[in-house]
Amino acid sequence: MPKGCSNPGHGGRDSGALGSRSMEKDINLQVSLKFAKRMRDHGFEMVETRTGDRFVSLSDIAAIANNAGCDFFQSNHCNAGHGHGFEIYALPGGKAENFARVMEKHLAESLGITDRGVKTNQRFYVLVHTKMPAILVELAFIDNPADEALLLNAAWQEQAVEAMVKAWCEIYSVAYHPMGQAPEPEPQPAPAPGAGKAALVQEALDHLSRAGEIIRKLGE
Ligand SMILES: [Zn+2]
Repeated sequence: MPKGCSNPGHGGRDSGALGSRSMEKDINLQVSLKFAKRMRDHGFEMVETRTGDRFVSLSDIAAIANNAGCDFFQSNHCNAGHGHGFEIYALPGGKAENFARVMEKHLAESLGITDRGVKTNQRFYVLVHTKMPAILVELAFIDNPADEALLLNAAWQEQAVEAMVKAWCEIYSVAYHPMGQAPEPEPQPAPAPGAGKAALVQEALDHLSRAGEIIRKLGE
């Protein structure tokens, strides 16, 4: 199974952008913890750059993903600048841009907020310095009260996470299963050729021996 790196943006002394009721680092962590868990539910191997309120430098974040030999990288952030909606960043032209477009499709389908599109540039250190296809999701605007209310809503966070998981499932051809539902059972191996016939013969023999017993009882 593919190995992913989940990077909750900011942390510790770096709060990230500020909302009126929340700090970006906390929302990024909540979303990323749920994201990593649901990815593991689907069999992905996940590396997390932090699982608590801890500062990790950008160079350390890239090193964690590179040293673990991850196949893909996702950084989760909240936007700022009083806009509305989500956007996704990737380096231009490679696999990452394609992955970002799959992510965009799933987030647009489930979030019901403005799709600001995929933006390709070299702006983000973690996208430039990770060796695997890497995307950065700006989920919504923490400094817009309507968006912040969504970011703080646990059910909305889960919806966003499910959309992210669907995207990676599509990218790696993994069957997606909704939260709380067991994955599809593994298909059972086909019976060996002749096994069906052998079972029928056994059944007939069982019938015969039972018939014999009945006849014997009648004769007693
Ligand atoms: Zn951020």
